[in-house]
Amino acid sequence: MLAKRLSIGIGFCVAAALLSGGAWAAEGGHKAHVHGESKAKLAIEGNVVEIEFESPAHDIVGFESMPKTDKQRAAVDAAMAALKKGEALFRLTPAAGCKLREAEVETPLAESDHKGEHKHAEEEEHSEFHGHYHFRCAQPDRLKGVEVLLFDAFRTMREIEVGAILPGGQRAATLKPGANRFDF
Ligand SMILES: [Zn+2]
Repeated sequence: MLAKRLSIGIGFCVAAALLSGGAWAAEGGHKAHVHGESKAKLAIEGNVVEIEFESPAHDIVGFESMPKTDKQRAAVDAAMAALKKGEALFRLTPAAGCKLREAEVETPLAESDHKGEHKHAEEEEHSEFHGHYHFRCAQPDRLKGVEVLLFDAFRTMREIEVGAILPGGQRAATLKPGANRFDF
């Protein structure tokens, strides 16, 4: 029991390290995620908009253990492909002319190919998807907000806690289906 909790803690630390940076690193608490609750971070620096998110795999593909069937592997591949399309998931103010320059998506569920049998396969621990996006904007002064379309792509997603570092300071909001706009 203790060993299991410890391994979850370590897994989350790795995830938190990926997400943390600057002022965000101060955010505390290493605890397992809650299904239905994703976290996103957004920062505007000059003409660059950086967005990161962390979602329970449950909300993305419906399971969190290593995929065991072809159907589950296909679901992970499809989710990875969908999540790489950052422009379809985060709609920044069109007048700002933002283009996706870089997108990285990671999940432990996609790592089974490398070593064949994966140790995590037998463990029922929480797994997540992480996304990291860089947008470059032609007219950053015109940025007014972002519409988050993850809810349309992944119907089991219920809530996204957004923390943002904007030119005017830090802001936070909770987005939900039907309330998926974050205004800057
Ligand atoms: Zn979970």
